[in-house]
Amino acid sequence: MITKPKGTMDVYGEDAKKREYVNEILRNVCSKYNYNYIETPIFEATELFHRGVGEATDIVNKETYTFKDRSDRSLTLRPEGTASVVRWFIENKLYGNITDPVKVFYNGKMYRYERPQAGRYREFTQFGVEFIGSNDILADIDVISLAYNTYNLLGLKDVTIVLNTIGDKESRANYRESLIKYFTPLISNLCEDCQKRLKTNPLRILDCKIDNETDILKNAPKTIDYLNKESKDRYNTIKEYLDLMDINYLEDYSLVRGLDYYDHTVFEIIADVPGLGNIALGGGGRYNDLIEKLGGPSIPAVGFAMGYDRTILAMDNSNVNLNLKEDIDIYVMYVSKTEKETASYLVQDLRLNGFITETDYFNKGLKGEFKAIDRLNPKYIIILNDQDLKTNKVTLKDNLTKEEQKIEINNLVDYLDTNL
Ligand code: ATP
Ligand code: MG
Repeated sequence: MITKPKGTMDVYGEDAKKREYVNEILRNVCSKYNYNYIETPIFEATELFHRGVGEATDIVNKETYTFKDRSDRSLTLRPEGTASVVRWFIENKLYGNITDPVKVFYNGKMYRYERPQAGRYREFTQFGVEFIGSNDILADIDVISLAYNTYNLLGLKDVTIVLNTIGDKESRANYRESLIKYFTPLISNLCEDCQKRLKTNPLRILDCKIDNETDILKNAPKTIDYLNKESKDRYNTIKEYLDLMDINYLEDYSLVRGLDYYDHTVFEIIADVPGLGNIALGGGGRYNDLIEKLGGPSIPAVGFAMGYDRTILAMDNSNVNLNLKEDIDIYVMYVSKTEKETASYLVQDLRLNGFITETDYFNKGLKGEFKAIDRLNPKYIIILNDQDLKTNKVTLKDNLTKEEQKIEINNLVDYLDTNL
C-alpha cells in the first residue's frame, strides 16, 4: 500500500468543510482591511530563501526541501511566504512610485523538514498578510489588529498577542554586543546550534527550542535596555495605539522571532491549547531591510503569518462551534428509463439555478431512494413518474410538512425560489 509522506495530511469530510469556513472568514477580513489575494509559486530559486529568510536560520539550515530540476537549477519548496511576496514586488517593479501601500494576503502550503508532531507538519498551510511601503506605526497597528481580529472572528477569544521590539539597526547592534559579552563565557553550557549562533546571529540564541528554559537564557540581557530613544519612542507609541484600540497584549522583552529580517516591532499570537500547552498560532513583525536585501530599493514593510493548521487545532480543542452543516435543498427520485432521462437534465437545471440537488446514482429504486432521503434530509423531494411527465408535471413534496403537490416543471424554479 502506498501511504502519504510523513508529516503530510489528507483533508476531507468535516475537516474540509471547516477549512472552507475558515478560508471564507480570512477572505472576508482581508477584504475589509483592503488586502488583495496573491498566489506565488510553491517552489522558488533556492537563493531567494537563503537571502530572504537568512543563512543562519533553522528554516534554511535544517528544514528546506531543496532539489535540482532536470536543468540543474537549485529550487526550494517555499518554507514561508514573505520572501516570495517580496520577490514578486521587486520583479514587477511595484516600488516605482509608491503613493499607496501594497497590501496583499496569501493562503497556501509551506514546506519544512521538521519532526512531525501535533501542530507541526512537513507540509502545512500558512495564511499571511504583507503591508509594503509605509513605515508609519499605523501600518504596524493595521497588521496586528488584522491578526487579532481574525483569531477572534474564528472564535478563538483567548489568544494573547505577545509584543516586543528589537529596535532599529543601532539598537540591535548594541543589543547584539551585549549578548555576545553575556553569552561568551557561558556558551559551552548551551547546545551546539547556539554555539554556532553566537558567531552568526546571537539574537537567535534567544529563540532556541532546546535551551529556552535554562537560566542562562532567562537571565540574558533584554532588548528594552538597549533601545535608542527613537526606537523606544516608536515602541511606546505602538502600545498607546493598541490601548486606544482595545487590543490586549503582553510584553516579552526576550521575544526576537526566528527569521533574520525583522526590525522594530515583533509579535506572536499565543494560545493555551488543551493538550498542546502554550503554542504560537502565528507571528509577524516589521522588516524594513528585506526588500533592499533581495535587490530592491529600501522600502519598509510589515507582515504577519498565521499557522493555519495549528489555528484549526486550537479551534477544535477550544470547542469552537461552527455551523458547518449545509443541508441539501432537493432530492430527485426516479425509477423508469424516461424518468431517469428527465432527472438528468432536471438536476442540472436546479443546480444551475442555485439549489443544492442530489439524486440516485445507483438505480436503487424507490426503497433505496427513500433511505437516502432519510440520511440526506433534503428540504424538498421531487418525485418523477411517467404519468405526470406526459403533462410536464412532477410531484413536489415538502419533506418537513410531508405535503405533496403536482407542479409544472416550468414553474418549479419560481416556486422553489419563493419557498426555499
Ligand atoms: P515554531 O517556533 O513553532 O517552529 P516558527 O517560528 O518556525 O514556529 P514562523 O516561521 O513564525 O514559525 O511561522 C508562523 C507560524 O506558522 C507559526 O507560529 C506556526 O503557527 C506555524 N508553523 C510553523 N512551522 C510549522 C509547521 N512545521 N507545521 C505547522 N505549522 C507551523
Ligand atoms: Mg520553526
